[in-house]
This record gives sequence, C-alpha cells and structure tokens, in this order.
Amino acid sequence: MRAVTFQGLEQVRVEEKPEPELVAGDDAIVQVDTSAVCGSDLHIYHGRVPVEEGFTIGHEFVGTVLAVGDDVDRVGIGDRVVGCFHTACATCTPCLRGDYHRCANGQTFGHGSHLGNLQGAQAERLLVPRANLTLRRVPESVSSDVALFAGDVMGTAFHAISYGGMRSGDTVAILGLGPVGLCAVQAAFAGGAVQVFAIDTVAERLEMAASFGATPLHLTEQDAKKEVRAATGGAGVDVAVDAVGNPEPLALAISLARDVGTVSGIGAYSGRMEVPLGLAWLKGLSLRLGVANVIAHVDHVLDLLEAGKLDPAPLVSHHMSLDQAPEAYQLYDAREALKIILTP
Ligand SMILES: [Zn+2]
Ligand SMILES: [Zn+2]
Repeated sequence: MRAVTFQGLEQVRVEEKPEPELVAGDDAIVQVDTSAVCGSDLHIYHGRVPVEEGFTIGHEFVGTVLAVGDDVDRVGIGDRVVGCFHTACATCTPCLRGDYHRCANGQTFGHGSHLGNLQGAQAERLLVPRANLTLRRVPESVSSDVALFAGDVMGTAFHAISYGGMRSGDTVAILGLGPVGLCAVQAAFAGGAVQVFAIDTVAERLEMAASFGATPLHLTEQDAKKEVRAATGGAGVDVAVDAVGNPEPLALAISLARDVGTVSGIGAYSGRMEVPLGLAWLKGLSLRLGVANVIAHVDHVLDLLEAGKLDPAPLVSHHMSLDQAPEAYQLYDAREALKIILTP
C-alpha cells in the first residue's frame, strides 16, 4: 500500500509499505478515506520532533473499518469511523482518572518510536490499537472532512475552552487563529460565550473568525488590551486562550484575563520561557496547560458537529491526493493553506 513517509529534514515521500495486520485482540484495520496535514506534522517536517526516516506520518483520519480483533465491540467491519490522534489503554492510573492524554501506555499515530512507534494515517490503510477507545462511528449526516476534526483539531479547541472552565455568559479571547484557534472561536460560542475576541495578524484568518461571530483584533494594528478592556467594562476576559504556544501570546493572555480568570494554554510550549508570572499571581489567575484530552471530548464534539453547533468545514482550504503529499507539505509549510485534506 502507499503511505507518506518522513525522509529527513523537510522531505516526505510516498512509498510502498507493507499492509498493516491485526496483532492484539482490540486492534482494528481501517481503510483511510481522508487524512489531513496538521501543524504537528510540521514539527516532524522541520526535525523538531524526532521521527525515524521511512516512518509513516499523519495522525488525523476518517475511514472504514476493514477488520477487527475478537475484543473489538464498539465498532464493526464496514463502519465509517474517526480516529483520535493517539491511543490510550483505559486501565493505567491516568486513564482511570479519565486523563487519557497522559496515558502511561498511549501511542500517537505517526510520531515515530519516541511516541509509541505507531505508523501514521497518511496512508491507504492503518493499524488502530485499542480500537474501542481510539475509534468512534461517524454520524451519517456528518461529512468525513468535518468528522476528521473531532479526532484532533476541534477536540483540542474544545479542550482549550472546557478545561479553561468557560461558562455560559463568559467573555473569551483567543490568541492565534490557526486551525485550533479558529475552532476555539466556535467552541467558545457553542459553550455559550457572549463575546469572543479573536487576535491574529493575518487578515483572512481575522475575517474567518469574524464570520464565526468573533470580534477580530489585529495584533499589531490595534491595541488588543485597550479594546478588550473597553468592551468588558475595564475587567478583561473570563478566559484567555493561547493557541500559539509562545511566551508573547501567553504574556498577552495573562494581561487580557480578568482578575481570578483563567489562561488556557493549548499551544505546544517547549523549554524555558519568560512570562509575567508576577502579574498572573497578582491577578489570581488559573493556568490550564497541556496537550488536549481528545478521547474524553470526542463524543461531545461529534454530537456538536452533528447538531451543526460546530462546523469546521470553512477551514478546509485544499483537497489533494495522497500522492501529492510532498506538495501539500510545502504548501502547508509556506502558510498558504489552513487545512489540507489528503485522499488516498
Ligand atoms: Zn493534528
Ligand atoms: Zn492508560
């Protein structure tokens, strides 16, 4: 079968790879209908996340179940399913707490041996371990393009809002309007936000956020702090989301949050960084950080997609074939695409 493999710095290739085979009783084999290129794939592309050469990459997919082991009972052959971007065992201590994103035995699709050695989804077919927990049936009325977002991007956005403790009637600021930030705008409104400030520098992304009902704020051409203060009676927002993962947006999120509000950092931070922790302390802020618990949210997200309360369809900017993966990565790296769907 054909699969997209990592070949070293800024190189991917479509190669012939062996067919996946069932190993454990709770494994499934899925025929991939759609996969996608994600910001996390660019970390691999740029060598920031170490992946072996020849490893199949990709972690977002919707497909059809081709085969299941004897212990798989929540999905069956022929079901159209969406996969979460990682697996979880359901029996370790973090899983028993419901913290599937910190599973001691979890594997992330398409991230090489250091994240579980699980081949990726940018392929014709893939092996899905722990299928009872990793896969969900897709509601009939939800397109595969839209359902794909439930397994990573929209699940992550939903996490940023729900773990940020947002309540109906709250005001929210979203910093960074990549796919996760734009989905977070929708997730905030779905959760009952009364006003969502969407902050970025890219005009098209600000326009899209505005089309979802947000108040767009240009990071460099407007004074975000002043605008947010003016619109919230001087208080600041209840929840400020950093969807970038850098010290500058985190610092701005801390300054935009109201006293005893929450800063939800969903971007991927790395290493040490300097942030105004004194201000966060003075304001009594809660900081909620970390990778998203997508497995815990995927059923809610699918329900909201089916109900039309969330609709990431406008984010899909490109449809390309799996064979065009090298061009797709170049396009995504050049920031000329918001979401690229790959079809085998
Ligand atoms: Zn992703
Ligand atoms: Zn576990």
